[in-house]
Amino acid sequence: MTTFRILALASGNKHKLQEFEEILGPVGWKVESIRHWVPDLADPEETEPDFPGNARLKLSHAASLLKESSIRPLPHALAADDSGLSVSVLGGAPGVFSARFAELAGSGQGDAANRQELARRLREAGLVPGASAPAAFVCAIAFMALAPDGLVEVMAECRGAVGLAERGDGGFGYDSMFLPILADRKLSDRTFAELPSTVKHSLSHRGLALKALAAKLGKRR
Ligand code: IMP
Repeated sequence: MTTFRILALASGNKHKLQEFEEILGPVGWKVESIRHWVPDLADPEETEPDFPGNARLKLSHAASLLKESSIRPLPHALAADDSGLSVSVLGGAPGVFSARFAELAGSGQGDAANRQELARRLREAGLVPGASAPAAFVCAIAFMALAPDGLVEVMAECRGAVGLAERGDGGFGYDSMFLPILADRKLSDRTFAELPSTVKHSLSHRGLALKALAAKLGKRR
């Protein structure tokens, strides 16, 4: 019989939870949102200039709330990730501001507004319909076992390109605008939102970071 250890993920994003579960499940982790222990979790303001810093910030914020939770059993470990899209012709934007790109520009809120803001900025930078600009998704994960405690950090990126058009219904965020570089090093003609989720996970920043985390955790068992 397999005994699972419980990992609390400091996120309520169901796509992230699914990706964590799919990759860490086979190495013995059952992933649950931290909201199970902290139902009214509010995300902290992401004030660090880089992804690893914001992942650590989310982790320590969640750890202090978890300490106050009366719900038992507690998880064996806690993890937080920070991720985003970086586009070279936009000087690395939206970068650490990916989740609030439109909000910070005053043009709306949420994934659809963020994509429209990205398309607007790409057009401003001279991108024309049918063309694409180099971009990369980045993901940093901070993981902490509760006992014995110890921090494990990993980071990965997925290179590709973004275009103006949105295609596909899968995924979330900027997926429908992002064409990843495939295993054969060619640029995909399908967006992350058009590719099966197994293909996305095999290439994506979060998939690669999670595999690096799974390998590190395997060695600590
Ligand atoms: P976070 O929750 O602070 O890490 O914000 C990440 C933001 O980056 C999300 O709101 C998305 O806009 C974007 N993002 C991160 N990972 C992905 C992905 O796998 N696909 C599409 N967008 C992503």
